[in-house]
Amino acid sequence: MEAIGKANVADLKLADQYGPLINGEIVEAANGYFDSVNAATGEVLAQLGRGGKEDVDKAVEAARAAFPSWASTSIEERSILLNKIAEVLEENQDRLKLIECMDTGRAIHEFDLDYQLAINQFRYFAGAILTHYQGDSRPVDNGYLITKKEPLGVCAQIIPWNVPMIMTSFKLAPALAAGNTIVLKPAEDACISVIEFGKLLSDILPPGVVNMVPGYGNEAGQALIDHPDIDKLAFTGSVEVGRLVGRTAGDRILPVTLELGGKAPHIIFPDVDIETAVENATLGYTFFNGESCILGTRLFIHDDIYDEFVDKLIERAKEIKIGPPTDRSTRLASLINEKQGKRVLNYFEIARNEGAKILYGGNRVTVPGHEHGYFIEPTIIEAESHMRIAQEEIFGPAATVTRWSDIDEVVKAANEVDYGLAAGIMTDNMENGLAVANRMEAGSVWINSYFNFQTGAPFGGYKNSGVGREYSKEALDSYSQSKTIVAAYKRPPYGTFL
Ligand code: NAP
Ligand code: MG
Repeated sequence: MEAIGKANVADLKLADQYGPLINGEIVEAANGYFDSVNAATGEVLAQLGRGGKEDVDKAVEAARAAFPSWASTSIEERSILLNKIAEVLEENQDRLKLIECMDTGRAIHEFDLDYQLAINQFRYFAGAILTHYQGDSRPVDNGYLITKKEPLGVCAQIIPWNVPMIMTSFKLAPALAAGNTIVLKPAEDACISVIEFGKLLSDILPPGVVNMVPGYGNEAGQALIDHPDIDKLAFTGSVEVGRLVGRTAGDRILPVTLELGGKAPHIIFPDVDIETAVENATLGYTFFNGESCILGTRLFIHDDIYDEFVDKLIERAKEIKIGPPTDRSTRLASLINEKQGKRVLNYFEIARNEGAKILYGGNRVTVPGHEHGYFIEPTIIEAESHMRIAQEEIFGPAATVTRWSDIDEVVKAANEVDYGLAAGIMTDNMENGLAVANRMEAGSVWINSYFNFQTGAPFGGYKNSGVGREYSKEALDSYSQSKTIVAAYKRPPYGTFL
């Protein structure tokens, strides 16, 4: 199933309808269905349940009922089950990758990384829970003290469309490992692989431990965050909706984790070998179709090498193959939908109007047989770092290029942005690299190799990029609460307090 055309969609054996997954079973959606389409061709893949309050109520009820028994499983049992999930995801990855490729429009070759990261998540948390601090006990005067970790309860988790299985694993794995039950709302634009994975989970986990409600954000998503019987909110998506989720958590005194947008600087020193640096910078702004919050889209290039670097960056952009998502040789494919496509093209217009210069790209490309899709050229824009094009998240394959010559000035400019999810540095002088890394206001900093994800390394944002960390043991803490028990052998004698 390496490369398939439209005709082979049937091979995926999709269901006609994907209603909510509750108690391990797909059930009828209370408010009907809407079309889920192939982002590149517009072909209807299946019908998705239009989740609302009624579905969310049932899903939360199932998660609540499953909680006491799931919370009391041993960490060893949970570890075994998480490893089993990793195995099953691995066994089913070819089919799920193709579904996700057609659902999102992203190039099939990218999903190798997505699924490697997703599978690793389950393996990592299967191991991490066994060695994570679970509490202790020690003698105190006249008794003993016990501290222990307990799960939070029913977790409401909301994810975006760009990397569905990465997002699903980031949310499910730590929450399950810590003993919580879950109601997950996938994104309306890319949901099918997530619910197919949910069906596979039904053979592994007890009913009600993981429930899923598809639907629109302002209906299913809003009903979920407003539900009175949830114990934690975890959200990945835009800053705008993140604020809403954060406000709800504040009103309700609920713990919250937010993974929001990004606009990462990538600083290139003059000592680099230009070819390898161009290659890495290109990967950094085009991978995930440009639809990711961690892309290195603000390139700061040293004056001494600027002209040569930018020329080579353009040459490299010209070589990038834009084509059908299901073709293995494609490197850039279709954006998720028309709204996103128009938004990206509009940003190029904004860039021109504010005096930035589009050095290469900036256009929509037609791919035969995929006229519905928004395929966008890799785009390189010369801009000043304060301009909107260099400050706001575009979510398309575009990078700004800006000259620098003074180290303090470039660090200041790189940090002058509302976001702080990631940053990149390229230099052969590790002293410079580490010194600048320490000054970056970002949750992840990659020196000489962008997207150098390491399982177990905390992932999350400074500033508007979010609150909390995933991918690491810190996530286990964010899905747990501590309890202190102090036991005295004897009550104080009568009269002590009088
Ligand atoms: P979004 O509009 O914020 O949507 C994210 C999720 O929230 C979707 O499932 C959406 O539902 C749901 N939602 C929308 N309105 C809601 C509401 N009122 N109540 C509850 N849920 C609601 O973001 P997006 O357009 O999907 O994704 C793009 C954004 O996500 C970008 O800004 C990107 O940077 C960010 N992102 C961040 C990370 C990270 O790790 N930090 C990763 C990926 C993406 P529907 O879409 O189904 O309507
Ligand atoms: Mg779709």
